[in-house]
Amino acid sequence: MQTRLFINGDLVAATGGATLPVVNPATEAVFHHIPAGTAADANAAVLAARAAFDHGPWRQMSGAQRAGYLRAIAQGIRDRLPELARLEVLDNGKPLPEAEWDLGDAAGCFDFYAGLAEELDGEVETISLGDARFVSKAVREPVGVAGAIIPWNYPLLMAAWKVAPALAAGCTMVLKPSEHTSLTALELGAIAKDAGLPSGVLNIVTGLGQTVGQAIVDHPDVDKLAFTGSVPTGARLMAAAARNVKNISLELGGKSPFVIFADADIEKAVEWIMFGIFWNQGQVCSATSRVLVERSLYPALLERLLAEAQKITIGDGLAQGTLLGPLVNDLQYRKVLAAIDRAVVQGATLAGGGKAAGFDKGYFVAPTVLTDVPLTADAWVEEIFGPVVCIRAFETEEEAVRLANDSRFGLAAAVMTADDARAERVAAAFRAGIVWINCSQPTFTEAPWGGYKQSGIGRELGRWGLDNYLETKQITRLVSDEPWGWYIK
Ligand code: NAD
Repeated sequence: MQTRLFINGDLVAATGGATLPVVNPATEAVFHHIPAGTAADANAAVLAARAAFDHGPWRQMSGAQRAGYLRAIAQGIRDRLPELARLEVLDNGKPLPEAEWDLGDAAGCFDFYAGLAEELDGEVETISLGDARFVSKAVREPVGVAGAIIPWNYPLLMAAWKVAPALAAGCTMVLKPSEHTSLTALELGAIAKDAGLPSGVLNIVTGLGQTVGQAIVDHPDVDKLAFTGSVPTGARLMAAAARNVKNISLELGGKSPFVIFADADIEKAVEWIMFGIFWNQGQVCSATSRVLVERSLYPALLERLLAEAQKITIGDGLAQGTLLGPLVNDLQYRKVLAAIDRAVVQGATLAGGGKAAGFDKGYFVAPTVLTDVPLTADAWVEEIFGPVVCIRAFETEEEAVRLANDSRFGLAAAVMTADDARAERVAAAFRAGIVWINCSQPTFTEAPWGGYKQSGIGRELGRWGLDNYLETKQITRLVSDEPWGWYIK
């Protein structure tokens, strides 16, 4: 396990030598320490990224050459996938097959953006002007030095979603992983070094948000901020970015609805409801945590959901057969249990779940189903970020859409029905950046990802993810020999 930061192509100790403990959320045992980077480390990383952007070979080389490095990083992740997946489980708690899935996706993300880097070569758009005396073209260029700040729910995957498109675009980057899950990001430094990435192109500094994160956000040499995390932190970053008008993209939280009509297949509905809220222990920004079910299906569906949710195997993410691991840490565990208690105080019924029985160590919360949740209760309105679903009945399509959209968030929404026309109609009516029909959560590197309303600004993934790291430049040439004749007649 790495204990060093990655700055200017070297694996280096944090200045001051302070560390943060790494706790296994399944056992509560401290099994490692990561470097607690300082503002000085963050500043050194930004200066390295600045120098690599301004004077290094990175942005001068072709997209095809950059693609070679991205593919080498993808291969480096694949070569070490079993070991990285194990680290992800120890650090985050998620079941091993989920970690393996994430890491396969992370490698795939580097390969995908390698392809887009190649497509950037020679990309020029000629613009037809309404004035024949001029010809104009648009070219795209890297934004510059990007600062990436990411959360703990998909540690290496969230890093890949930012590092891969930024590097493909020709940007250089400073990455700050979450202080709660930094192990695989530190390994990414070693993988990038092994891939021969030019010095300073990627820098990785672990540490606290208030120190390392804030130093990146405030640094005048950072041209662009790419943030994934909570709404309050995102809002704080946006205010800070305003001070020197930094380009900023935000991927924030959600309270996503899942509307299920009475013509849906009940078994498929139960499967996708559970996938939509129990995958990754519900610590998913796009989790469909508000389920709306047409009245005539509601009683039978609720009964099936409660029966199936109870059967989910809870345990250590490394244990064979675990489908639900512990929450990431003690803080999140206490927050989620408090949110369940508060829901009950505010009028909801705890139909199943709560604190998982049979564990004297570890941050285990059972798959939790809340019914009768008042529309004003925190559990209905606020992101819980745990395996907690609110379920309620609706009467009409119009009511379902209204309830679904009645949120300050707009990250994702899902609908299940056998009626294709209705599915398309409801999908069009959702005010959300990601809509699933007859499923919930499948995520593809090729497709745009991001939210409406307070769920964020900008899109990641696909070609949209590359746009985050590109500026568009207009180059206009005078081609007429006629005198301009404004001052000199
Ligand atoms: P968080 O906002 O607490 O922290 C996110 C990151 O910001 C961490 O690396 C943290 O150290 C850093 N940070 C904190 N204060 C900072 C500051 N003052 N300056 C700079 N950086 C600072 O979020 P979290 O608890 O790590 O993650 C959970 C949240 O992330 C949830 O709200 C979830 O919905 C959201 N999320 C969104 C997406 C998406 O794609 N929309 C994906 C995953 C998670």
